[in-house]
Amino acid sequence: MREEWDRKDWKAQFRNRIQTVEALKEYIHLSPEEEQVIKKSEGLYRWAITPYYASLMDPTDPNCPIRLQSLPTADEFIPNLYSDVDPVGDMKYRVTNRIIHKYPDRVVMLVTEQCSVYCRHCTRKYHTTDVNGTYFERREGESFEEDIRYIAAHPEIRDVLLTGGDPLTYSDNRLEDVISKLRSIPHVEIIRIGTRYPVLLPQRITKEFCEMLEKYHPIWLNTHFNHPKEITEESARACDLLLKHGIPVQNQSVLLKGINDDLETMKALLHGLLKIRVRPYYLYHCDNVTGVSHFMTSLETGIELMQGLVGHTTGFAIPTYVLTTINGKIPVSSDTIVDYSEKGLTLKSYEGKETFIPYLRKQEVLHS
Ligand code: SF4
Repeated sequence: MREEWDRKDWKAQFRNRIQTVEALKEYIHLSPEEEQVIKKSEGLYRWAITPYYASLMDPTDPNCPIRLQSLPTADEFIPNLYSDVDPVGDMKYRVTNRIIHKYPDRVVMLVTEQCSVYCRHCTRKYHTTDVNGTYFERREGESFEEDIRYIAAHPEIRDVLLTGGDPLTYSDNRLEDVISKLRSIPHVEIIRIGTRYPVLLPQRITKEFCEMLEKYHPIWLNTHFNHPKEITEESARACDLLLKHGIPVQNQSVLLKGINDDLETMKALLHGLLKIRVRPYYLYHCDNVTGVSHFMTSLETGIELMQGLVGHTTGFAIPTYVLTTINGKIPVSSDTIVDYSEKGLTLKSYEGKETFIPYLRKQEVLHS
């Protein structure tokens, strides 16, 4: 079945994403309980899976890392006392319909709320996966004029990150329209694209797409592999094509309970990335997003993983372990941890601002 889809173009795959239990059953065995949960998520959380990504699933293992990342589970409905729909503060820093201006010299531009697969652990679950999507407030269809004007009027912005949803859901032409407008602003030095297409639908990375991007260098691309199973011939081909067109590819993983929170899996992932010339960049501690909390590990798990990597493998295989907070990303290190006790964790941001995280308590993660 996988070979069959590999021969089709990415648009056909996108159009034929799996969105019903019946279609999913062509790929995997589902227990009656699993079927029920998927049906229960309807009207609450979106789900869709590309045939390519589904083909990576273990047909019989309910704990398959590909299944856990893409299929709704009962855990999404269990409330967590400290969870929040927007723990990283998108709404606080929103300055236009699409722009989040959190750091002085760079901005995030949320291009769309659409993705090829709706990852269960998405930090912007309220935006991508929640069927009532609160970020765009039905303004996704608006033009980019206001957003481009904002960037042009702020000469301190030298770095623009296009993300979403997944910007590669747009056609090449539509994306080029946005990128060319950004490139015409003299103070925009680099354009970054955050996309999971190399992992979820690698056929999207075509020669034509790369040639389009190449016209607007310097373009950087950050992708999101979480498990070694995701490194396939197709994903390697997609990354290779990007690299051949001068687009550096870096990886941002999320530390996910039951998926990549053991040293053996993490090492296999990082080593696999180096083999396809993708540089591990960040390892994010999973944010306490409503509907995502069950993926969170303890802080100790992350620290132990890092200790198992530093010195034990190639230096540039090791990502920076970070927590995303309302005050920006904070690397987890003795320099940034102000206090860590049974009451919670206090971290210091690059601006010296302190952030208290009550749910990361010494030796335990609270699930209430
Ligand atoms: S592709 Fe990215 S934005 Fe879309 S659901 Fe997955 S993690 Fe979220």
